[in-house]
Amino acid sequence: MTHVGIVGAGAGAAAAAFVIDSTVPDADVTVLEKSGGLCGRAATRRHDDLTYDYGANYLKSDDDRVVELITETLDDEGLVDVTDPVYTFEADGAVSPGRDADDHKWSYRRGLTQIAKRLFGRTDATVHRRTRVETVRRVDGAGGAGGGADEANGDDRWELDDADGETHGPFDALLLNPPAPQTAELLRTAEWDDPLRETLVEAVGSVEYGSVWTAVLHYPFSLDVPYYALVNTDKEHAVGWISREECKAGHVPDGETLLVVQANGAWSAAHYDDDPARNVDALAAHAADIIGDDRLADPAWTDHQGWRYALPEGGVDRGPVDSARDVGLYLLGDWVAGEGRLHAAIANGLDAGERVAYRI
Ligand SMILES: Cc1cc2nc3c(=O)[nH]c(=O)nc-3n(C[C@H](O)[C@H](O)[C@H](O)COP(=O)(O)OP(=O)(O)OC[C@H]3O[C@@H](n4cnc5c(N)ncnc54)[C@H](O)[C@@H]3O)c2cc1C
Repeated sequence: MTHVGIVGAGAGAAAAAFVIDSTVPDADVTVLEKSGGLCGRAATRRHDDLTYDYGANYLKSDDDRVVELITETLDDEGLVDVTDPVYTFEADGAVSPGRDADDHKWSYRRGLTQIAKRLFGRTDATVHRRTRVETVRRVDGAGGAGGGADEANGDDRWELDDADGETHGPFDALLLNPPAPQTAELLRTAEWDDPLRETLVEAVGSVEYGSVWTAVLHYPFSLDVPYYALVNTDKEHAVGWISREECKAGHVPDGETLLVVQANGAWSAAHYDDDPARNVDALAAHAADIIGDDRLADPAWTDHQGWRYALPEGGVDRGPVDSARDVGLYLLGDWVAGEGRLHAAIANGLDAGERVAYRI
């Protein structure tokens, strides 16, 4: 039996696990995820009757394979298409109708995390949550430290140690899904004596990320505006994005409002470690100003989240990433796709899953 290890349970990893499991049903897939949830930055929370996507806000229909996966392969019950338009605003806060693209903007009644839940749910993969991987190790067939690509032999495999000191593996193929800085750290500390490791650390470690600070604001009244969301097009405003979760069926009771306000990169970096209550107040005041409704400065209930590694600012040098496959090491996620988008992460996971399935 072939053993496959996956670090991280983001949407990319879920897509890869789904392909491996359906193509090679007797492969044994183990997933180690540091958080308590699935789907990584496509994150959903619930509070009383509220459901909200506070990381990625929607999945776009920009990739044909992903569209087929979501609308045909997976159960589309509870899939929500947000049809209200996205308007734009500029540095001075002036709002105007945007160009309305024909793309679908999907979530689920139960939130975007359904993507990973449904994908993993169709597999026999064992998913360990609250399991942070701290050490990656290359071992040879005899259990010692393994060699490099030029001396790779069929017996070399991968092991993982988690933060509780437990060892997982050995795995014939290892998939790493964390954002590039976290993957680079795992590779930097890996017990793997191979020049390729250093080349990979350099390539992966040079992918820059922008941070995003998110405020979630709830109000016991509805808003009479014609848009689902507002996006800042000149990137000069402290706020980059405001969306209304009530435009997603099943997320917000009638007569209420739930805003997700994403600060822009510069504001998020400058205020990342500030008092969260002050950040929420500041973003609520901005939302009131942009939407033009003073009541929005005083939400009834709030939530917040800082995303240090929110969005990759570019892609990784593919050379070392491609070479790593020769030793059964697969890197995957939005930063490998070169686009900080959910559909790109899923498409990249499908690719990685196909490559692993082909190899085994
Ligand atoms: C605020 C915000 C808004 C966004 N808005 C949109 C949007 O509207 N539309 C869109 O298409 N995209 C959006 N995105 C981008 C989208 O969320 C990502 O592109 C996509 O979710 C990335 O998926 P992934 O599988 O590559 O990685 P991730 O989702 O980052 O998954 C990686 C997983 O690895 C885990 N992990 C990390 N280190 C370890 C470790 N040592 N051990 C075990 N597990 C580990 C993490 O906990 C995580 O679950 C947004 C992102 C953010 C942060």
